[in-house]
Amino acid sequence: MAHPHDTLFDVDGALIVGAGLAGLFTALKLAPHPVTVLSPMALGEGASSAWAQGGVAAALRDDDSPAAHARDTVAAGAGTVDPAVALSVAGEAAQRIEDLAGLGTPFDRDAAGRFLQSREAAHSAHRVVRVKGDAAGRAIMQTLIAAVRATPSIRVIEGIEVDDLALAEGRVAGVFARRSSDPWSAPILFRAPQVVLATGGIGGLYQITSNPSRVRGQGLGMAARAGAVIADPEFVQFHPTGIAVDRDPAPLASEALRGEGAVLIDETGKRFMVAIHPDAELAPRDVVARAVHHHIAAGHRVFLDTREALGARIAEHFPTVAGYCREAGIDPVTEPIPVAPIQHYHMGGVRTDEAGRTSLAGLWAVGEVACTGLHGANRLASNSLLEALVFGARIATGITTGIAGTTPAATGRPTGTLPTTAPEIDILPEAALAELRQIMTADVGVERDAAGLTQALRTIARIERESQGTGRALLNMLTAATLVAAAALRRTESRGGHARADYPETDPAQARQTLITLDQALAIRADAEETAP
Ligand SMILES: Cc1cc2nc3c(=O)[nH]c(=O)nc-3n(C[C@H](O)[C@H](O)[C@H](O)COP(=O)(O)OP(=O)(O)OC[C@H]3O[C@@H](n4cnc5c(N)ncnc54)[C@H](O)[C@@H]3O)c2cc1C
Repeated sequence: MAHPHDTLFDVDGALIVGAGLAGLFTALKLAPHPVTVLSPMALGEGASSAWAQGGVAAALRDDDSPAAHARDTVAAGAGTVDPAVALSVAGEAAQRIEDLAGLGTPFDRDAAGRFLQSREAAHSAHRVVRVKGDAAGRAIMQTLIAAVRATPSIRVIEGIEVDDLALAEGRVAGVFARRSSDPWSAPILFRAPQVVLATGGIGGLYQITSNPSRVRGQGLGMAARAGAVIADPEFVQFHPTGIAVDRDPAPLASEALRGEGAVLIDETGKRFMVAIHPDAELAPRDVVARAVHHHIAAGHRVFLDTREALGARIAEHFPTVAGYCREAGIDPVTEPIPVAPIQHYHMGGVRTDEAGRTSLAGLWAVGEVACTGLHGANRLASNSLLEALVFGARIATGITTGIAGTTPAATGRPTGTLPTTAPEIDILPEAALAELRQIMTADVGVERDAAGLTQALRTIARIERESQGTGRALLNMLTAATLVAAAALRRTESRGGHARADYPETDPAQARQTLITLDQALAIRADAEETAP
């Protein structure tokens, strides 16, 4: 039954949902155009962006070029990156780094003032700008937050979680939201001519993730429910070296440690990666994640050994990782760090064009919730913050210039009756959530097969039936999970972040982006339900 909304806010200009790097940078680029940013928590909290360790990829040195950066991006993406997107994003990287530096980001620099850049796996050059070794995310976010607070055209509303897009006259016309601390609070309708979705990834769909716990596929789910075309949802990146200390979210031992010579060993001290790939620990992230997964499944424990490569230098060069270890009672100078693969990044998302527009009029998507074609089947390290910066700037330009196409000019305020679809309450039933996260990890995780994916889809459908009436937060997560599992079942090959035990080869005939709507995913789910167990 329709529920009358108790509160209505009319937003001038643009409404940005989510306050990670993507949301905040877009807001700053929109200034002085009026913008409202909704954040479930205090600014800086609850966003993956603040936890980024490596930094931002940008070809800035004389021995590097945007063309080389684009080539590496295309190679990492395993055959499905859009090369034009890769080249244009790499070409805009230097300007976006200058934007961040201009706002005051304290990037590491050499004595001559040039950016110090790290080399990360699958990059052919030293290309990643960083802050204090492994603290880029926190420093960039602190800089952006200070700038946002000092910008009069940006209104930030904290403590608000969005759970539905509002539609009117065939376009997105706002969002339904609630107080994030109170599932019983009345729905609030924010009506806005332009909505920018910047809600991050899907980590919380999985049992163990590196993402903050509110980053759990809600934006993907609500956009799909509103009819948006979704791209590549099956491509999920697992980080091979989550620090296995029984914490959720799990802290991460950055890839750069392996770049510095740290090795993976098991409980017998054996370096098992040597037999698996010529690059051993520096093999592509998905190869290492699968190897660690298989080794643990075979009954071993796996550790990252930094003792010889870094010794006591780890505290100075990787203060974030050293701090995580200290908190867990591990001394990486004298003992190896226990690790396991964890969900880390979502290559797929709400499909956008080169300007950041989704298939729904009035809706833009930026950052990890979007799928722009840059990452293909596998993200190149440190390309995600870059993508958020580049597309945030493009969306700001698109909104302020009122680019032609699917969206009307920024002044075009929607009229007509807005649907009142928000439910009475919005609680997340703990048992249902735990079951969803368990099945996603077991059957839609590092390695998948038809039997497991079919079972996962059946379980997701059952949870959805059993939890009707509990609100949109769980429904959004179940929707996102349905998209990932359905697309994974449909892709009968292994490619990048999608590994099928029953289809281990890459099939050249399937070298294309997946485009899928929720209706199509639900049809695949219905077929799975009909398949005898
Ligand atoms: C530990 C870690 C290390 C990483 N290291 C790097 C790195 O070195 N380089 C790199 O390029 N990438 C890195 N990544 C990936 C990168 O950090 C993310 O892809 C990127 O920060 C995503 O930015 P975002 O703004 O899209 O999302 P986030 O920063 O996750 O922000 C999402 C925002 O949306 C809000 N939100 C979510 N749901 C809702 C809702 N329903 N309603 C309202 N708001 C909502 C969240 O609270 C948050 O404010 C790392 C990720 C992690 C987790």
